Amino acid sequence: MSKHVFSRSPGHRLPLVVRGTGAELFDEDGRCYLDGSGGAVVNSIGHGVTEVVDAIAAQAAAVAYVHGTAFGSEALDAYADELAPLLPVDDPRIYPVSGGSEAVETAIKLARAYHLGRGQNRSVIIGRQGSYHGNTRGALDVSGRAGLRAPYLPWLGHAFHTTTPYEYRCPFPDVHPGGCAVRHAEHLDRVITQIGPDQVAAFIAEPVSGAALGACVPPAEYWPAIAEVCRAHGVLVIADEVMTGFGRTGRWFACEHWGLRPDILVAAKGAASGYWPLGLTVCSGEVYDTVAASVFTHGFTYSHHPVGAAAGRAVLGVLRDLVPTVADRGRDLGLALHRELSAHWAVGDIRGIGLLRAVELVRDRDTRQPFPRRDRIAEQIIAAAKAKGLLLYHATGNTNGHDGDLLLFGPPLVVTPEQVRDMSHRCATAIHDVLG
Ligand code: PMP
Repeated sequence: MSKHVFSRSPGHRLPLVVRGTGAELFDEDGRCYLDGSGGAVVNSIGHGVTEVVDAIAAQAAAVAYVHGTAFGSEALDAYADELAPLLPVDDPRIYPVSGGSEAVETAIKLARAYHLGRGQNRSVIIGRQGSYHGNTRGALDVSGRAGLRAPYLPWLGHAFHTTTPYEYRCPFPDVHPGGCAVRHAEHLDRVITQIGPDQVAAFIAEPVSGAALGACVPPAEYWPAIAEVCRAHGVLVIADEVMTGFGRTGRWFACEHWGLRPDILVAAKGAASGYWPLGLTVCSGEVYDTVAASVFTHGFTYSHHPVGAAAGRAVLGVLRDLVPTVADRGRDLGLALHRELSAHWAVGDIRGIGLLRAVELVRDRDTRQPFPRRDRIAEQIIAAAKAKGLLLYHATGNTNGHDGDLLLFGPPLVVTPEQVRDMSHRCATAIHDVLG
């Protein structure tokens, strides 16, 4: 890699990737890697899908760029009309941006603008402990990962963070599993009441925690109880579906598992599956009508990009065939992980839904005590897996005062049953290599 590239992994010599097909990637030396995580759980349709490449090329050739304040585009109209019926948002209005952090920034500004539009000066956003919503200042502020926030705290501190459903380390073990959803909701209610409901604009959370806590699936009662608390206080619900959206969990959007209809939904990653940097902020017609007239001054140079819309629409076409297969393939992955890993002394938990699965490693299975962070166990295992031709993603647990070692699986949805078994097997051998 050229020294003029400011590397994402300074000090490491990264192989150059040259080609991809399906769930496989090839580097400059012809080595093949099984893509167990689609990068950062980005690639849902698989690598090398020429119909998406063709759609991007056709739109770029017709017109590559217009500024969103001057022109609309046929590509965006067509995409929005196809996507709208799939969204779990009432009368949805779609604001396309360039990625997840931009989508989150847009969502939190929208929430503030909504209340301003109703004559209310609400500004506080409540996130959850251990969460991740992005790396820009607003998105980092609503994120609850202490380690990521620490260097930038002088710029942060406006958001509050409430408890997160995390079955393996439930913050309410005395009532788990039956009553913890109620406790989470009571905690949120208490936090809103302490801040003052007239100050709180929105609550933001992933329906299923992904990058931070590793595929934590809340109990059935969690989202209905949380939504009820928010509604009672006039607090908007922002569902962060950047990782879970577009079929990853077996439904088009993870909100659907709980019947959740958020006021605002953000998505990215799978939306254009890495073929184009696309993020989406979606709000309800009611939010749109309230802000559209005056109070929402916002936008990026690359918002409403016609090529992004063409990419998103082509990806949607591919996903229509794939989404119905995710529940079965996800079950295959879950079973294979249990078969290969559950007997290992350091595997504390295997969890997830659809094709979003995580393995939590601990020093002691009985006490669930994590490894010391300085041992960097997950990083070592991920490096060992890469050497065996398996790519995994590092999710970092950070709640209840602990930093966990989490391996995240989020392969392209085209992954085959055989590849799923192969991934689980290679992961097991990587864990054995590092931990014995
Ligand atoms: N929200 C969630 C849930 C994410 O997983 C991520 C990325 N890991 C983001 C927001 C930020 O997205 P991006 O990196 O595209 O800015």
